[in-house]
Amino acid sequence: LPRFATLLLQWYDRERRDLPWRRTRDPWLIWVSEVMLQQTRVEAVRAAFVRFAADYPTPAAFAAAGDDELHAAWRGLGYYRRARLLRDGARAVAALHAGRVPDDAATLLSLPGIGEYTRGAIASIAFDQPLLAIDGNVERVIARHRGISAPVRSAAARRQIAAAIAARQDRRRPGDFNQALMELGAIVCLPRAPRCGLCPVAADCRARRSGRQESLPSLRRRPASVLVAARVLLAPAGRGAVLAHRIAAGAVNAGQLELVGLGALVHVADVAVFVQRLRQAFHSRFQVGDELGSVRHSITRHRVVLRVHAGECTWRAPHELVAARPDDAGVPWSTLSRKVFDRVAGARRLSSPTLLPPPTGGRG
Ligand code: SF4
Repeated sequence: LPRFATLLLQWYDRERRDLPWRRTRDPWLIWVSEVMLQQTRVEAVRAAFVRFAADYPTPAAFAAAGDDELHAAWRGLGYYRRARLLRDGARAVAALHAGRVPDDAATLLSLPGIGEYTRGAIASIAFDQPLLAIDGNVERVIARHRGISAPVRSAAARRQIAAAIAARQDRRRPGDFNQALMELGAIVCLPRAPRCGLCPVAADCRARRSGRQESLPSLRRRPASVLVAARVLLAPAGRGAVLAHRIAAGAVNAGQLELVGLGALVHVADVAVFVQRLRQAFHSRFQVGDELGSVRHSITRHRVVLRVHAGECTWRAPHELVAARPDDAGVPWSTLSRKVFDRVAGARRLSSPTLLPPPTGGRG
């Protein structure tokens, strides 16, 4: 027998809480308790379970319950959808399985309201079948004990956790083994501040050895960051102003002014493409010159490198662009444009007075 299971079961036999559903191996009552324990604290379930077991000792008894009765039976527990699913399951058992909860794993899983976890709990606890029942407590214990750092909901972590449990399982006491793991997660390997000093399997716990017991399991998959190379133009507009455009209504930061560009999230591969797309966007003509510097900026998961070009507008369509001074505190410059003024050498110098030619002729 693996040492992990021996230590865990010895601890469970000694320390487990005396809970009413642990005094029965009736599959219907195990089922009821597992459904009640979803999203509800053990203390709230205790009294409700005892009452329910007395009123509805069989699936057939609950199958006959009307809605009012169902609500009364479930009072104090909340999440009534669970109760309705349980009744659907009880009705299926009454109608299709002569009122007996089936012991076949595949048939169990076909019943309304029974998923992998509940199936594993019923099959192992009531029928001694070596199925796993992996809930959040169990995931946490195993992710820590095995030092699994993949996000716990990822397919990779789930596979590793299931394999680790299967390799450590006590197949002679599968129900107790599953419950012991859950109990360890519930009273020792707590989400915050695990009580490692009381843990029966602490000796070979990888998280504890590396001081990661509070940082595992990792819960979220970090979205991969996206790199964007965007460009803006610093085009003088006379009297210390530069050309800008107003962010359209409905867009993020609507109404703010932004340096001439296509937006921080638009990747622009090279200068020729930039010139062409500026022309399309603003119906104006531009000359794009040297790169003056760049600014780094993060927007959600986008890591933006904004290349700042010197340049000018050689023909300007009416109403598309405005002139504004970088140093005018009354101008609602976007954060990113302010960053450019602060960080790119020459950004202010370039906005020194030069007169822009007035619009001439047709559209660019
Ligand atoms: S040693 Fe600590 S972190 Fe490791 S399984 Fe036990 S309680 Fe959890």
